[in-house]
Amino acid sequence: MTEPLKTMEDAPLLSLPLADPDPVPGCPRCRYWARERTDARRADDGARVSDCNVHIRRHPH
Ligand SMILES: [Zn+2]
Repeated sequence: MTEPLKTMEDAPLLSLPLADPDPVPGCPRCRYWARERTDARRADDGARVSDCNVHIRRHPH
């Protein structure tokens, strides 16, 4: 999967599968969710993966 180098861009359509947001470097919260996402993906838990993505995407910095 290729990662776009854009920093802040919200996808307008929530129904489409979105690219995984990158956790902000140095942010423990983002790092936590990124880790959860990795675990969820390993467990093949798509709902949890997207949940983690939402947390990362919405995290204010
Ligand atoms: Zn964060």
